Amino acid sequence: MTKTKAYGALDARSPLAALDIERREPGADDVQIRILWCGVCHSDLHTARNEWHNTLYPTVPGHEIVGRVTAVGSAVTKFKVGDLAGVGCMVDSCGHCPSCADGEEQYCDNGFTGTYNGPVFSGENTFGGYSQSIVVKQSFVLRIAHPEAQLAGVAPLLCAGITTWSPLRQWEVGPGKTVGIVGLGGLGHMGVKLAHALGAHVVLFTTSANKVADGLRLGADEVVVSKDPEQMARQAGRLDFILNTVAAPHDLNPFLALLKRDGTMTLVGAPGEPHPSPDVFALIFKRRRIGGSLIGGIRETQEMLDFCAQHGIVSDTETIRMDEINAAYERMLKSDVRYRFVVDMATLG
Ligand SMILES: [Zn+2]
Ligand SMILES: [Zn+2]
Repeated sequence: MTKTKAYGALDARSPLAALDIERREPGADDVQIRILWCGVCHSDLHTARNEWHNTLYPTVPGHEIVGRVTAVGSAVTKFKVGDLAGVGCMVDSCGHCPSCADGEEQYCDNGFTGTYNGPVFSGENTFGGYSQSIVVKQSFVLRIAHPEAQLAGVAPLLCAGITTWSPLRQWEVGPGKTVGIVGLGGLGHMGVKLAHALGAHVVLFTTSANKVADGLRLGADEVVVSKDPEQMARQAGRLDFILNTVAAPHDLNPFLALLKRDGTMTLVGAPGEPHPSPDVFALIFKRRRIGGSLIGGIRETQEMLDFCAQHGIVSDTETIRMDEINAAYERMLKSDVRYRFVVDMATLG
């Protein structure tokens, strides 16, 4: 075992602080990565504060990880020392259920092992990216083709990027399709960039009139202030697909009304309290559907990273020092970030 510097929480009420964790020595199939950047996801905050009532302490969050390979096991073929590498939300899955066989490890019937707080197969707690280094089996490590200068903006692709990419691909967003993106935060801003790059006509829905210019800059063809009923009415029955990234409980009906016949609205935000039940008639009369989607499989994550490298796509980020994480959480709660905090792991000391 290797003693490794990290940053985490000892209980639900304490702020995050420096602590030491143990990492395993790389086994035959393992890749050891020195972490350079780690994005800050809302799930990190929920876990640090035990808001999903399942946190094992101490907890070290962080599942938007990019870094450089420092050691590989004897059976590793995908990576060599010095390569750039990424790790997202998962570090293991059962490998033999139908979902794993399909490369959809995030839907593993036996539960995937989370990068942090995820002791499904190992039995021991897992510690995430707010740390100097991590050891992960090669099949859960991603290749990074972006230039090194863009690495900070690559980190959020490992969760926010794949969470929006997977449903856009599943529902075949592309040229000729009109797509709504609801919410302009960490997920939504990636949804706009990716849907635009896939060739769709993108309509962004935001509650903030002061985000209109930014929405257009990010690649939206139209920006609708969703609190304005007149602007909403002009979109009625126009959209083939809606990617709803909003986690706060809200009325889904005004958005369902914007779907064409057979249109789908997919939810990727995880609300703390349920959304109010949608109007069944709004579904029945146009054969509309509501769906859900969770991150994406490893193969699909690699596809997304390669697509983003090819198209020069990264997340819009604000970089912080590790010891600024508690203040960053408070700002994240107020949506005061455009659009993702990323920790410069060199500041861990
Ligand atoms: Zn996340
Ligand atoms: Zn499985």
